[in-house]
Amino acid sequence: MQQPLTQRPVGRFAPSPTGHLHFGSLLAAVASLAQSRSADGLWLVRIEDIDPPREVAGSAERILADLRVFEMHSDQAVLRQSARTQAYHDAVDVLLARDLAYWCGCSRADLPASGVYPGTCRAGLPLGRRPRAVRLKVDAEPIEFHDLVQGAIRENLADTVGDFVIWRADGLPAYQLAVVVDDAHQEITEVVRGADLLDSTARQIHLQRCLGLPTPRYAHHPVAVTANGGKLSKRLRSDPVACGSPARSIATALRFLGQPCPQDLSLRDTWRWAVDHWHLENVPRLRELPLPLEATARHGGFGL
Ligand SMILES: [Zn+2]
Repeated sequence: MQQPLTQRPVGRFAPSPTGHLHFGSLLAAVASLAQSRSADGLWLVRIEDIDPPREVAGSAERILADLRVFEMHSDQAVLRQSARTQAYHDAVDVLLARDLAYWCGCSRADLPASGVYPGTCRAGLPLGRRPRAVRLKVDAEPIEFHDLVQGAIRENLADTVGDFVIWRADGLPAYQLAVVVDDAHQEITEVVRGADLLDSTARQIHLQRCLGLPTPRYAHHPVAVTANGGKLSKRLRSDPVACGSPARSIATALRFLGQPCPQDLSLRDTWRWAVDHWHLENVPRLRELPLPLEATARHGGFGL
């Protein structure tokens, strides 16, 4: 199901509008852009604004403004998931019609602590339950794929998640469904993103197969954590990166990604260096790496 190699690669950056562009999201933006541009490919931006309860007002506009400061420009109009609801509905209708998905009437309290759905509603809603969410059936066959950074990955969805939600009980499409529908719609051939999303990939590949959609190539770069291996604080995650020197921020991100970019170049030369020297095989094969000191914003700006 992989794309023919002769096709011009199409990569994407798909932030959720939950704050500013911070170092964690900048990594995914830089990695996906460098990977596409170094192969003469296209780079697209998609705003994943399908989860209004989690969104921060004005955040999408701030992220797009931050990208402009970094001179990261989408090759097509920015796609907003909030404008794509009909496409997600259509995909769920197809899966229900093919008996690949079903309505589930379970509430959170009905689910086991393991998080693996036991298939309670697979053969029909139990008496007295009303339909709440839609789940996609998984089978016992493991999903296997080759991640261009992390290597061979194998996941048996029946063991890790069970039949999973593609349409939420609150009436919103699930993240996994929207991503798969939009990656196909935008003809994405390469998904380069943080390793925190590695666990989503098998579900997305299963969805692609159920919907008859192509599977892009995947590359998951390490995510930034604290020196102790903890999650970045809310402060660090919400720190805007655009208030420091954009060139130094990009160079810091490139070095985190295993690309030894000099720190003293202009923004334009930093990008030129990135496109000329980008090697995906040099990205560390780790899921997590400590945040570089120069990426902390204590002194008034990222990368200063
Ligand atoms: Zn159920």
